[in-house]
Order: sequence, then C-alpha cells, then structure tokens
Amino acid sequence: MSVAAKYELIKQKINEACLNSARNPDEVKVIAVTKYVSIQRANEALEAGVINLGENRDEGLLQKWEVLGDKPTWHYIGSLQTRKVKNIINIVEYIHSLDRISLAEEINKRAEHKMKCLVQVNVSGEESKHGLSAEEALPFIESLRKFEYISVVGLMTMAPLTNNESQIRECFRKLRELREQVQALDLDFAPCTELSMGMSNDYGIAIEEGATMVRIGTALVGEDG
Ligand SMILES: *Cc1c(COP(=O)(O)O)cnc(C)c1O
Repeated sequence: MSVAAKYELIKQKINEACLNSARNPDEVKVIAVTKYVSIQRANEALEAGVINLGENRDEGLLQKWEVLGDKPTWHYIGSLQTRKVKNIINIVEYIHSLDRISLAEEINKRAEHKMKCLVQVNVSGEESKHGLSAEEALPFIESLRKFEYISVVGLMTMAPLTNNESQIRECFRKLRELREQVQALDLDFAPCTELSMGMSNDYGIAIEEGATMVRIGTALVGEDG
C-alpha cells in the first residue's frame, strides 16, 4: 500500500478517536517515524502531506536531513547520548527524550535558540524503557528552571509491551494526569501542552486519552502491514 493510502486510513482512525473523545483532530500531530525506511519512503510521506518526521538515531536523521533538508519538521524521538547532541540540535525542532540533567546541560550548552523538549516518562515502569518514573518527573522538571535554552513543551511516553488495552490506556491516562500536575505549577519554562504518546498499535487509544503527537512508523511508512 502506498504511504498516501496508509495516511488516509490513519487520518480516518484519528477522526474516529477524536469523535469518541470529543476532541478536535487539528490538535493531533502525526509524526512519521522513518527510522526503518529509506529516504525515498520518507519523501513519499512528505508528498502525502505529512509534515513531521521522527528519527531515533543521529546517523539516520543526518542522512535524511542531507536530502530532505528543512522540508519536514524534524523530531528526535530516541534515547539521546550526550555526545550526540551537537549533531542533531540545530536540525530538530523537538527533542522527545529529555530524561536526565546531564542531557539538559548539554542541550543548554549547544542550543542556538530555545529548544522544545519533551520529558520522557517511563509510566509503565518496564525496565527496558528509558525515562523518569512518574514520581521523579515533577522534581526533575522544576530543576530545569536554570536552563535558559530549554522549554519543556510536553511529556512523552511509550506504552507497556502488552495487548491488554486497559493497561495501555491506564499508562496514557497517567501521562495526561502528570501533564495536568506540571501545568498546575504554572512554570514559564514549562508550558507542557504536548503529550507525545501512541505508536502504530495504540495511537487510537492514545488520542482518546489526549495525545497531541502520535509517533507512527510501521502503520504509516512500513513496507507492509
Ligand atoms: C520506532 C518508534 C516508534 C514507532 O513505532 P511503530 O510501532 O513502528 O509505529 C515510536 N516511538 C519511538 C520512540 C520509536 O522508537
């Protein structure tokens, strides 16, 4: 199936999820995660009308950026090694994986303008996942006050690896509740309006629970499925 056809199906599903939850589909950004696919395939997504592309490695991002340039809005969605920050920081508009002070220090040092960062939270507590625990997230965010070039625009999480829909929903709901707690702090460096959650298998649930950014790889640009 072409990327354009897949994108149409995804937009339908987004509309349904928005209907179910009385939300406006304009509040949901689709990020095409192109980490497994060619530059050609990523370009097909752009031609189909996708605006946001996400990569989880600096090599992959740079390769695609050399060809596609600033046509897409770039998102860095993977765990980010401190020494790689300088390679990607002036290309990406958003970093979805801020999870430690040493990374914040490096972003703050290298940024040429305020960087839009999402704090990654490991809501499910699965050991294999990166991110702060829900308990650590608020004090961590408050500690970012001193970084002039960091704006905490939202929170990001990955659902637990399970087919249990209510467990997945619970994870997304907790991230939304955490966002409300951050917003209640009323911090000017942490407007925290975005919720980056939902992938190919669970973006419908994520949107019903308030996602403003869904990160879709396989279902959008995958060669099959
Ligand atoms: C790979 C990846 C995705 C997309 O996964 P799919 O299941 O292919 O949609 C989303 N978010 C992150 C952080 C990823 O690494």
